[in-house]
Amino acid sequence: MIKTGAQYRDDMERMKPSIYMMGEKVENYQKDPRFRSSFNLVALNHDICFDEKYRDLAVCHEPLVDEPVRRFTHKLQTTQEDSLKKAQLTRQVCRHHICGWCMSNSLCILWTLTHDIDRKYGTEYHQRFKEFAGFLMKNDYDCFWAMMNPKGDRSLKLDQQKQGSPGVKIVRKDKKGIVVRGAKVSNSYATCSLYTFAVPCTALTEGEKDYAVAFAVPSDEKGVHFIVRPAPNRDSSAPDHDMENPIGSEIGIVEGTVIFDDVFVPWERVFMCGEWDMAQQLPLLFSNIHRQSKCACLAGHSDLVCGVASLVADVNGTSRIGHIREKITQLMIEAEVAYGCSLGAAMEGSLHPGGIFIPSTAITNAGVTYIKKLTGEQIQLLHDVSGGIICTMPVEADYRNPVTKKWMDAYLFGSSKYTTEERLRALYLAQEIASSKFTGYFIGWGVNAAGSPAACDIFVRSHYDLKASVSVAREWAGIKEKKRPSQKANSER
Ligand SMILES: Cc1cc2nc3c(=O)[nH]c(=O)nc-3n(C[C@H](O)[C@H](O)[C@H](O)COP(=O)(O)OP(=O)(O)OC[C@H]3O[C@@H](n4cnc5c(N)ncnc54)[C@H](O)[C@@H]3O)c2cc1C
Repeated sequence: MIKTGAQYRDDMERMKPSIYMMGEKVENYQKDPRFRSSFNLVALNHDICFDEKYRDLAVCHEPLVDEPVRRFTHKLQTTQEDSLKKAQLTRQVCRHHICGWCMSNSLCILWTLTHDIDRKYGTEYHQRFKEFAGFLMKNDYDCFWAMMNPKGDRSLKLDQQKQGSPGVKIVRKDKKGIVVRGAKVSNSYATCSLYTFAVPCTALTEGEKDYAVAFAVPSDEKGVHFIVRPAPNRDSSAPDHDMENPIGSEIGIVEGTVIFDDVFVPWERVFMCGEWDMAQQLPLLFSNIHRQSKCACLAGHSDLVCGVASLVADVNGTSRIGHIREKITQLMIEAEVAYGCSLGAAMEGSLHPGGIFIPSTAITNAGVTYIKKLTGEQIQLLHDVSGGIICTMPVEADYRNPVTKKWMDAYLFGSSKYTTEERLRALYLAQEIASSKFTGYFIGWGVNAAGSPAACDIFVRSHYDLKASVSVAREWAGIKEKKRPSQKANSER
């Protein structure tokens, strides 16, 4: 059963998570205005399923429960068509509201991981996970993805850190379940979902086997604590600034650090427990399944910047000027290339034995790293097209003051096609994206969310068929393949 945004909000009413924000414990967070925009975004992800504009892509049948589900949240990607449709929906949604919260990717990752662990170790994780996934689908519950470790000193493994344990680890096991302790960082929507998935974020060594743990708990489970930061420009309970911060006011995302303070997890919600050699699967599965979405998501962000730049050029009367058109064309090209990689990754994908369709690792990561590295440049282009006024203009409160509004209306107009208020609205939107607290977040969402560009580069390097390219070069240069001594020895054996 697909729930509306209002039904999602009803589900959240019963939650009583332990939350700290801006130095204080938060009580009754459902009514706290700083959480409103995050709840809105999750609710929107439900409501698109009832919106004609999105419905055909956003709703699909899921054989596991033999019911319609929300594609973004619960569809197991088992065919090329699923992968293509996910990319299409992602671009369409992210160009408008930044994030589609593609948690179905997490289901696909854990589906595949549990399948592979069982195959190697004869465990029962996959059946447990299937049951839990079915439970989420049938109830249309939302989860968030706690993967990122605080990491500590990045040059050391988790068990070599001198100052503690910068990850989540198993501290006890008994017949009923396990007890976990530690922290995860950078958890988007952490407090706005009913369940929390925690998984390892890197390959592990035998010495780190206690960190090889994947599980799900209700977000208000005893011992789970959140330290969250408000969405950008939403750090007070002051009235919304809908002209200055139209996006953040409506759909800004609360981000959290999650503490697991000796949290009990029953066995039926444990999906990995000590199989350290399988942890390397997680970054690999994440790198192709989730980054295919990220590629389309950042195509959508490029569309957003492109649209704002084009609107601002029009209100400023510069839309026909050559270099402005070139800059806007550049943004179009970047959006289409990233989207093309997301689609292309589906075209060259393959079916994993566990049943999940896996997009091409090389194409996905090439597309993502290409567009990630352009995130800052796109913001620069928006400044360039908009002009300095997006850093220097009077604030919305002055436009709402009749004395100063009169002067602003008289002098801050642009093209005669628009009223001054319309021009200011377009400029405030450009300001929110390119010159506000939201800017830093928007760039970080591009550069780091779903992994750093360097992490993507590694996957391109390891999956690109360099041998084939070099062999063409050798052929044209007339240089024969040289066998290394060890290769020779092998072939002679
Ligand atoms: C807006 C936003 C939302 C996010 N949402 C989520 C979420 O919902 N769930 C979640 O789990 N995560 C989330 N993340 C986290 C995201 O996946 C990480 O930020 C990203 O993977 C980078 O890791 P890091 O932040 O720990 O950076 P670091 O690992 O500190 O990286 C910083 C730099 O150091 C380099 N580096 C670090 N260690 C090494 C090493 N050993 N070798 C070589 N280079 C290294 C990196 O490549 C990078 O260039 C989110 C991030 C952002 C910005």
